[in-house]
Parts: sequence; structure tokens; C-alpha cells
Amino acid sequence: MTKAREYLIEKGIVEAGSRGRLSLEAQLTLKLAILEGVRFDDYNLVDGKVTKMDVPAPVKLKAVKTKSSVMQAPVAMGRKPVRDKTQMRIVDKQGISTTLDYHPDCGQSIQFCRCTSLNAPSWIIDVEKFELI
Ligand SMILES: [Zn+2]
Repeated sequence: MTKAREYLIEKGIVEAGSRGRLSLEAQLTLKLAILEGVRFDDYNLVDGKVTKMDVPAPVKLKAVKTKSSVMQAPVAMGRKPVRDKTQMRIVDKQGISTTLDYHPDCGQSIQFCRCTSLNAPSWIIDVEKFELI
């Protein structure tokens, strides 16, 4: 689909940047083009006359309000913290303290991890102290 005026400019019938009513020559050119099967966005033949058509404005999408319960993922809704502790702290025998907010064995956060026993991750050797905080 092309705009009629662009087509006419291409054919050298209308000057680029021109506005206003189309000349009879331009209208005749459009009429012949339409009869030959050229389709224009903005002009068409109505009752044998070249007529400017209303080009519909692009449809704007409206933001639709939804209830917040619809927006929440069902998984998140069903998730309740298993414990009120949010971190594990491990101190090794050298006194190096490591704090994690997830359980390395299952990858869940400390609060949501359902493992019955929480242990220090295996990469920490010589655990001196392990606590949930
Ligand atoms: Zn776990």
C-alpha cells in the first residue's frame, strides 16, 4: 500500500512537498492507477470519483486494570515461609564467617527451603559454628 501523493510524486505529476487539492491531471492519474489495480492507503474511487479516504488512526492499546490476585503467580501465592530465619551463617575453624541466604543443597532461600535438616555447604570444611539467623 502506498500513499497517493507519493505515487504521484514518483510519476512526476505532483511536486514533492506539495499540499492541497489534487489537480485534475493528478486525479485522472490516480483514477487510472486504481482502475489498473494499484491500491492506495488514502485515496480510492468512489462512484467513479477519486476520493480521499479517512485513514483510521492507529489503535491505541488501553491499559486494562486487573485485580491484583490475577496478577500474582499462583506459585508465589501458595508460598509461605517455612521458617523465620533468613540466612545461615557458618564459621570455620580459621574463623572465616560465611553467610548465605539460600540453602546450597536445594537452591531454595533459607526461609522457603523445606529440607528437614539444614547443614553447612560441603565446600566449607572444618565447620566450627553453624547457625540460622
Ligand atoms: Zn534446602
